[in-house]
Amino acid sequence: MKRVLIAGASVAGPALAYCLARHEGFQVTVVERAAALRPGGQAVDFRGPGRELLRKIGLDERIRAARTETLGVASVDRDGREISREMAHERGGDGTIAEIEILRGDLAQLMYEETAGTAEYRFGDHIVGLEQTADHVTARFASGLREDYDIVVGADGLRSSLRSLVFGPHDRYLHDLGLLIGFFTAPNHLELDRWALNYTEGGAGGAVVRSIRDNREASVLLAVRGDRRDCDSRDVAGQQAFLRERMGGLGWEIPRLLDMMDASDDFYFDTCSLTRMPVWSAGRVMLLGDAAHCASPTSGQGTNQAFIGAYVLAGELAKSGGEHAAAFDAYERIMRDYVAGNQGVGQENAQRFGSFRDDSEIWIEDHQLSAIRGIQLPDYLAA
Ligand SMILES: Cc1cc2nc3c(=O)[nH]c(=O)nc-3n(C[C@H](O)[C@H](O)[C@H](O)COP(=O)(O)OP(=O)(O)OC[C@H]3O[C@@H](n4cnc5c(N)ncnc54)[C@H](O)[C@@H]3O)c2cc1C
Repeated sequence: MKRVLIAGASVAGPALAYCLARHEGFQVTVVERAAALRPGGQAVDFRGPGRELLRKIGLDERIRAARTETLGVASVDRDGREISREMAHERGGDGTIAEIEILRGDLAQLMYEETAGTAEYRFGDHIVGLEQTADHVTARFASGLREDYDIVVGADGLRSSLRSLVFGPHDRYLHDLGLLIGFFTAPNHLELDRWALNYTEGGAGGAVVRSIRDNREASVLLAVRGDRRDCDSRDVAGQQAFLRERMGGLGWEIPRLLDMMDASDDFYFDTCSLTRMPVWSAGRVMLLGDAAHCASPTSGQGTNQAFIGAYVLAGELAKSGGEHAAAFDAYERIMRDYVAGNQGVGQENAQRFGSFRDDSEIWIEDHQLSAIRGIQLPDYLAA
């Protein structure tokens, strides 16, 4: 039995726990720094091979049942008049509003429920030290625990502390794309019916509002130019003050949305950044999801990469009989080009969106579909 420790219980971590449980021989512990599963986040999308993967691993029905069912997105001008629209069923279901979209918090909850019976979850703790020997890795936790594992996987997001611990400081790997994004849930005050609205104001900022949860609520995205220096990741009040200062004078519904931001309880704010690493593993430690290869929310591909990465890593570990070095090498070979393609999409869209032109509403363009669909899924689960 191989003991696998996963840091992070958002998307990549539980996806790996789920995929490892499809194979024999793995005993999984997931440690999450937050005291409970973190709610919130906008819709995340499954596109192309991500959709195919859901069918392969038996999650298609459950995830479809929980999806947002947003029909499409319209761009509006300062007075709320529609300029253009894109429907979810266009471009094979892989466009700006994908056919399978689910709220990030709902996805995390669903994956937790799917895996809580096979993996041990520990909330409110995190790894503070790792010591590797030839045959195991000893993890030291903030709680004082000390345990041995065969493999440790950092699925702890863009600002992964496991990455800092093992590979060095964030600055070495994070590349800001010059855009900051805040997400939160608000009342559906525009009375949208399974619909999203996008507003951008020449060079200054933009917002996307969509109805969620049977139109009872709305999820709001606010975007403005900026970088890490504008964003202390632990100071929520400071982040909100920054958005108010930069966006308070903008048009359409933005002043009202900023008021609603103050009342929200799931505000999430971050830079649009890429994680670029020459190699994703060191000995028995591997990174997964945004910790390893974030493609920025502007790619719309974070969840596809997290799920596909989890499937490939679990499949390669099973194939190699738990031989981590062979599995990690195979992961690099299979994932590198796909990640590079998605990061190109994220970068291009951040530049385009960051210019806040009137036509910047189309996030996913036709020429980007080949990168988004650019991986052939190996068949690890064939009988
Ligand atoms: C609250 C939240 C809201 C989000 N909203 C959106 C959104 O609206 N749109 C979008 O495109 N993307 C969003 N994301 C990011 C999105 O989930 C990822 O881009 C993608 O799904 C890959 O997920 P991940 O699991 O690799 O990283 P993340 O989703 O960032 O998850 C990392 C997890 O690790 C935990 N963690 C951090 N440090 C440690 C540690 N030291 N030890 C243990 N656990 C740790 C975090 O609390 C978090 O649960 C959000 C992430 C979070 C956490």
